[in-house]
Amino acid sequence: MDNRMLRYLNERVLSPPATLAPERRRSFHIFLRIYLFVTAIHIVFMPIFLWIDVPALTALNLMCIGVNSLTILLHLRGKLLPALLIKLPFVITLIVAAGMLLGNNIGVEYYFFIILFEFVISDLERRYKIILSAILLGTFLIMLQWLFGLWGTWTLGEPAREMLHALNLMTTFILITYIALQVYIVSEITERRFRSDAYKDSLTGVYNRRAIIERAESLWRQQGSFALLLLDADHFKQVNDSYGHSAGDKVLRHIAQLLQHVLRERECIGRVGGEEFLILLPDANVDEAVKIASRLREELASQPCRLGKRILSVTLSMGLAWSHEEQLLNDVIDLADRRLYLAKSSGRDQIIAEGGESFDTTARYETFKGPSSTEEV
Ligand code: GH3
Ligand code: MG
Ligand code: MG
Repeated sequence: MDNRMLRYLNERVLSPPATLAPERRRSFHIFLRIYLFVTAIHIVFMPIFLWIDVPALTALNLMCIGVNSLTILLHLRGKLLPALLIKLPFVITLIVAAGMLLGNNIGVEYYFFIILFEFVISDLERRYKIILSAILLGTFLIMLQWLFGLWGTWTLGEPAREMLHALNLMTTFILITYIALQVYIVSEITERRFRSDAYKDSLTGVYNRRAIIERAESLWRQQGSFALLLLDADHFKQVNDSYGHSAGDKVLRHIAQLLQHVLRERECIGRVGGEEFLILLPDANVDEAVKIASRLREELASQPCRLGKRILSVTLSMGLAWSHEEQLLNDVIDLADRRLYLAKSSGRDQIIAEGGESFDTTARYETFKGPSSTEEV
């Protein structure tokens, strides 16, 4: 099977239905993998039961494969609990029947642990988990006490019995390992996705406000020196008014992606408001920070957002502040904000920053004005 086919299988056939609630997707992926793996095991066991000449078990195994296929179909349609509650009675029947036909000492009872495991990790409500686990334990005890060998006794001799016992033990071991591993892998992937979603701005893909502020706090705690750049798109309301909100969204995505592209790995950007972004420049001195800010403006001027044949040129006003200028992080952000406001009131499309370390009054801000863009909106 080539890669494309595997991807198609994974993304189209084995993916959860769109209607499935996000919090149930983890369960969807874990149980789908369990059902597929268990079906493969039933298929492997079929010839073994044929070989040891117990046709009733072969038939039950075949039935389990059929039930598993139905389970998988229901599961793929988002009916997770009906799928589980249809499958498990059949598996329990198979286990009990195997014990009744073949007697004890072949290890079929080990499979009860797997069923218990499946109950515990399922999305069932806690009280149903407890009730079903109690029923399972009852069945297990009844089987141990009265049912083993009720329909027949082992006639194939000790080596075959030992082989089947070893096979059941090994399969139980493999299944428990497989299921535990799937729980771990799927949980890890899900958690990583949730974490990344929680930190991302859904429109632009850059950090959201909470994430960029957390990054700033982390830099602040490390006592490192960093520059903080606050940017705001100029006259952005006009973009929405002239071309519509979705065009405005496209421009915002364009700006964010362009800025992110220009920044280096350690530098990070977050969207802190509608058309406002915050950039952190670790270890940047005055000259470097101003150079980076100027470069951002130039890049945006030379690569404006395009909407069909139209060019939507937007300029940026920026306020730049350094971590060492204030005693508190919030005050540094406020300082950058005041400088941004000054950039706006001084005509927009410019960067306002402190002139040098010795300057500490707002009256001595320097203005770095770059080329204006081709077609301002
Ligand atoms: P200024 O140069 O003073 O910053 O003017 P402005 O028009 O950019 O500022 P103002 O605060 O008046 O308007 C900001 C606009 O940004 C208004 C709002 O519709 C738009 N905006 C905010 N968030 C979004 C968004 O997510 N998508 C779109 N398309 N527009 C947004
Ligand atoms: Mg604006
Ligand atoms: Mg704004």
